[in-house]
Amino acid sequence: MLRDRQEFLRLIGPELSERLDLRRDAACGVWPDFTIAYVNPAWLRFARANGADGEFSSSWCEGASFLDGIGGRLREFYRSHLQAVLDGGAPWMSEYECSSPKLFRLYSMEVRRVGEGEALLVTHTRVVQCPHEQGVFLREPLDSAPWKDEHGLVHQCVHCRRVRRAGEAEQWDWVPQWVEHVPEFATGSLCPHCIATRYPELADQA
Ligand SMILES: [Zn+2]
Repeated sequence: MLRDRQEFLRLIGPELSERLDLRRDAACGVWPDFTIAYVNPAWLRFARANGADGEFSSSWCEGASFLDGIGGRLREFYRSHLQAVLDGGAPWMSEYECSSPKLFRLYSMEVRRVGEGEALLVTHTRVVQCPHEQGVFLREPLDSAPWKDEHGLVHQCVHCRRVRRAGEAEQWDWVPQWVEHVPEFATGSLCPHCIATRYPELADQA
């Protein structure tokens, strides 16, 4: 049986379909095998706006695996929570930071079960948008040396996009140019703040 977007829309019904169409923020439907069943117009707008740097790839769309858009340690974290919602039915809420060079943005993601676990509905909602602390985002380093490790790599938090200052134990800075365009010498990492506030389960494992 072809599991396409029409089938997902039939599952959720016309009223919810229309609300997802009109949402300001992204939403998607996910089949129990984690294939993306449906994305709403806001998802497509966001993908177009952010696709250029590869962070939010345009290939992360209907028919692809939802988990393909999530790298590293977070992949299993998301997979297990999605599976728990499919199995148990209780919605899962998670907050995450998705900032631009000038604005701090906090989003809330909700995952809930459709029907008896025929699918999942994932909705993202922006809960905070405000300027970064003054002075922090205005930093303009033209020399990347202070952030490069012994291998010439800059460790950038995949969540808040802060970068780790080389030589400092845990000092993570905002570098606006690197939020806008992830540099080639960047490597994905997680800062302690994001681990502690967003992924306490990962903090426990560390
Ligand atoms: Zn972070």
